[in-house]
Amino acid sequence: MASNGSSTKPHHPLIVSFGEMLIDFVPTVSGVSLAEAPGFLKAPGGAPANVAIAVQRLGGRSAFVGKLGDDEFGHMLAGILKENGVNGDGICFDEGARTALAFVTLKADGEREFMFYRNPSADMLLTPDELNLDLIRSAKVFHYGSISLIVEPCRSAHLKAMEVAKEAGALLSYDPNLRLPLWPSPEEARKQILSIWDKAEVIKVSDNELEFLTGSHKIDDEAAMSLWHPNLKLLLVTLGDKGCNYYTKHFHGTVGAFPVKAVDTTGAGDSFVGALLTKLVDDQSVLEDEAKLKEILRYSCACGAITTTKKGAIPALPSVAEVHTFLDAQH
Ligand code: ADP
Repeated sequence: MASNGSSTKPHHPLIVSFGEMLIDFVPTVSGVSLAEAPGFLKAPGGAPANVAIAVQRLGGRSAFVGKLGDDEFGHMLAGILKENGVNGDGICFDEGARTALAFVTLKADGEREFMFYRNPSADMLLTPDELNLDLIRSAKVFHYGSISLIVEPCRSAHLKAMEVAKEAGALLSYDPNLRLPLWPSPEEARKQILSIWDKAEVIKVSDNELEFLTGSHKIDDEAAMSLWHPNLKLLLVTLGDKGCNYYTKHFHGTVGAFPVKAVDTTGAGDSFVGALLTKLVDDQSVLEDEAKLKEILRYSCACGAITTTKKGAIPALPSVAEVHTFLDAQH
């Protein structure tokens, strides 16, 4: 993997991504249940870590803040971040708990089956005292999900990190990344995801998350706007192969997807978010300029589309050159 060292690009403002990094174990053959799988391949993931890597691949500068197990897998994951140039000064290692694992399969009937090893896993044990506050204060954009809200002490660490980033002037970006099987109940998931809703200035939800959070089966402007709050600057609803809808205080609209032959959609949303934040961190005025915002969202949709054309999340996150080649080929 090509190194994209952050030291080589000191001028870019920093995007700090907070949360979990784990290993997905995916069956070596498709369409089987976890019990039937003859073997598994390691696929590093965790949405906030994917976003940090996406940013680096796209020429931005990122750091990851989170906790890994002080084990082979934890050090392997930290190594992947490093190889990609992600600043690791906010990574802690837990000596008692293991790096999180998730066994995941898409069965022949299209049902996704998950089995998590988080009893507890290291990421859940990050404490507020372990946060690298100087690193968080240096963020121009602070990005997070909702998995880090599920249990203490990580929840308190998440809330403190958000507060510190905000006080230091960072733009807060939230992609809930709903993983229902990790929550005690759907009601608790909805409540906790919404408990930090009005802090974020940029929020990205998928169509499924919009349905879940609003309790409505409609994916329309009215449903999206029911999630609007006064501090919000940009709300995005991603629609898979239909692109995305965007909403700001002054305008809203749709950006279409690029037709591609999707083989694995894992990481498409993270690639989209990484692209958006990489652009936004340089120039937040695009939030008030619809033409410029649409251009950035087109770029983000291209990144999402490219990511679906390869297996896995991290291996499929594109470089700037790949996105340009892809976009040039559209004309
Ligand atoms: P998430 O991974 O968070 O569920 P989506 O699946 O909606 O997010 O994907 C994010 C973006 O990636 C979409 O807005 C779209 O631009 C692009 N994308 C996702 N799936 C496809 C697809 N099958 N074909 C083309 N583009 C896609």
